[in-house]
Amino acid sequence: MKPDVRAQILDLAATYPTPQAALLSALQMVQEAEGGRLTTEDLSDVARLLDVPLGTVYATVSYYTMLNLEPVGKYHLQLDTNISAKLVGALDLLAHIEQALGISAGETTPDGLFTLSTVEDLGACGTCPVLQVNDRYYEKMTAERFDELLTSLKQGVMPDWKTEGNWGTECNILLARRGKPDSTALAGYVADGGYQALEKALTLSPAEIVQMVKDSGLRGRGGAGFPAGVKWSFLPKGSTKPVYLVCNADEGEPGTFKDRQIMEFDPHLLLEGMAVSGYAVGAKQGYIYIRGEFAWIADILERAVAEAREAGKLGNNILGRGVEFDVRVVRGAGAYVCGEETALIESLEGKRGNPRLRPPYPAASGVFGCPTIVNNVETLACVPYIVLEGAEAFSQIGTPNNTGPKLFGVSGHVNKPGVYEFPLGVPLAKILEAAGGVVGNLKAVIVGGLSTQILTADECRDLTMDYDTCAEYGTGLGSGGIIVMNDTVEIPEIALRTIEFYAHESCGQCTPCRQGSTTIKQMLKRVVDGKGSSEDLENVLQLCKTIMGNTLCPMGDAFSMPIEAMLLKYRAEFDSLLPDGSLVR
Ligand code: SF4
Repeated sequence: MKPDVRAQILDLAATYPTPQAALLSALQMVQEAEGGRLTTEDLSDVARLLDVPLGTVYATVSYYTMLNLEPVGKYHLQLDTNISAKLVGALDLLAHIEQALGISAGETTPDGLFTLSTVEDLGACGTCPVLQVNDRYYEKMTAERFDELLTSLKQGVMPDWKTEGNWGTECNILLARRGKPDSTALAGYVADGGYQALEKALTLSPAEIVQMVKDSGLRGRGGAGFPAGVKWSFLPKGSTKPVYLVCNADEGEPGTFKDRQIMEFDPHLLLEGMAVSGYAVGAKQGYIYIRGEFAWIADILERAVAEAREAGKLGNNILGRGVEFDVRVVRGAGAYVCGEETALIESLEGKRGNPRLRPPYPAASGVFGCPTIVNNVETLACVPYIVLEGAEAFSQIGTPNNTGPKLFGVSGHVNKPGVYEFPLGVPLAKILEAAGGVVGNLKAVIVGGLSTQILTADECRDLTMDYDTCAEYGTGLGSGGIIVMNDTVEIPEIALRTIEFYAHESCGQCTPCRQGSTTIKQMLKRVVDGKGSSEDLENVLQLCKTIMGNTLCPMGDAFSMPIEAMLLKYRAEFDSLLPDGSLVR
């Protein structure tokens, strides 16, 4: 291991209560320094350095898809083939790339220059197809753009192509600064009134802020929709342990790409939300756990943290008021399950991202066994508005019980896929209109990310987008990731791609999820390949019922509910794939 990397790892480990918390970052640093691969020697070095058993290091490395034990080419090309990408031609692009490179996915060119992989969701559904090359994203990729990129890479140059996705805002709260020049800089944020909420917050007591957030009706924007202020009030009273505030920035649900809009284009909005929230809940340390693939966004956040610290907006004497709160950015390493809050906490501690059995809930025992609040990026970004404008003003946006602005990511068959900010309770039709309208004839919509139940075109005609109405329609608002499908789409293929994703991402701790997802995948594959039977379909339905509510974390429900809905609502399409004579009902 290079001496400077060793020194960096030791410095980092010294800042954590346990050296193992630095494990994931240490492995990432070594891999980067050693040309993209971890050798057995590297693992032993890291194990010794952090005083972690070698077996634990292996277990951690083998869990995360971004940590490589096998050699990869100088350029690692990773193409997202999840549903939103598939809908806009990712598989045709894959075929083109394979032909251009002369290799198949999973292979490396004989000269060692290129490795090609297909990967699950890269959080770029509004700008897909997306190709990740090493740490860099190339979005809105086409065959022509790939040829141009390939020529450049062969010359040893990784072009710095920026892709601005589509966006729009009716609320001007979460995307207010999007589109402004250098929207990530502190000076611009302050000029636009930024950090005034923090100034105001420090004139109030923490309890007053918690009450404001409760009164505002803000519900968690990560998917569950649980009231944020109520979650904060679950922290134990009188605990002598430190409290941690964790920002969940691990957005990885297919169809979801909203949080990156805040972090990438207005990072100080998130930092101000965290500083105010940290003060309210009594935390001195905050973590932003961001998905590992968003490397450049992590850099943007790091720069913003440094600027905010320098300007006294973060640190041990915020605004000269003696209040302490600082933020550290931690990158994940490729595991969808780490979006679940207890898995995220395990990962923050440098372990495999296996969800924990609850209770205890994180509010009682989270990071390093201490009281912890985990909030989503968008949730925290709403807090400055609530403090500055008041709970009443926030609750006037949206509908009763579904208050405030919401980011909706729209992908698939629309003319202008992108992210759109509307009040909760906005008609789905209005969002689709903002997204340029449907391409072709609408067939189905997944309204809240892949884990929510599909709605037919008829079902969603009058849908308004809020937590309660979506529940009444038998689906969920989830993360607000809207995947639009026209009548060229075959739902059995979507069902198969859905279960392939979840089977790939299952952490394997519980049998219904681990084995159930694999079995459903096998049965649906048979059906899609024209080799299935009606018994397969009945078994899929039966398995979905068995899995629902019977897994350690919500992942079991996350695939069994949408698969069941696809099968029940589009049964005729599945039946039509069965070989003649096998349909016995
Ligand atoms: Fe792991 Fe799946 Fe069980 Fe969640 S439901 S703990 S992802 S095996």
